[in-house]
Amino acid sequence: MPLTAPDAEQLAQITRQLGRRPLRLAGTALCCPAGHPAVVVTYPLQRRSEHLLPFPTIHWLVCPNLVRAISQLERLGAIARAQAWLAADPQRLEAMRCAHRRAIELRWALLEAADRERIARRGLSAAFQDRGIGGIRNFSSVKCLHAHYAFHLLHPTPLGSWLTQQAELHPCPPATERLGCPDSAG
Ligand SMILES: [Zn+2]
Repeated sequence: MPLTAPDAEQLAQITRQLGRRPLRLAGTALCCPAGHPAVVVTYPLQRRSEHLLPFPTIHWLVCPNLVRAISQLERLGAIARAQAWLAADPQRLEAMRCAHRRAIELRWALLEAADRERIARRGLSAAFQDRGIGGIRNFSSVKCLHAHYAFHLLHPTPLGSWLTQQAELHPCPPATERLGCPDSAG
């Protein structure tokens, strides 16, 4: 799925939706039919002055309606239920392990070659090779449903499908203002 670099207007919108300026973005991966970013992808290695900080969580759900709906699910205990649902079926669990490994591949592929070398040189590889969707190490566990749903919207997973059965998770309806999102998106 191609990423589009956010322009100034879209960046301002993402900042409003997140409530803060985003980290360095690799781009917008998905827009709502309403024309605002729904999933953004952060660059996996961030800089703070001379420090390099690994950011294993790269997919961020930013559509305000979807964020609200997933937060509500979390408040109602969906994380524990999701974990129990996964644990009940070895095939589900294996499919999720595959999804986590795919997340690792996608994250590595986002990195510029020079940054891959820096990561190896500074002994930061584990943060990129061990952590799956939402930055977790234990692929049998579930932590952040927002990260899972953001990933699912781009690369469908069993857990993401389960989430869509737990609540009405609709993207925002079409609007005229599109904030740099292509018309075909969503
Ligand atoms: Zn939306």
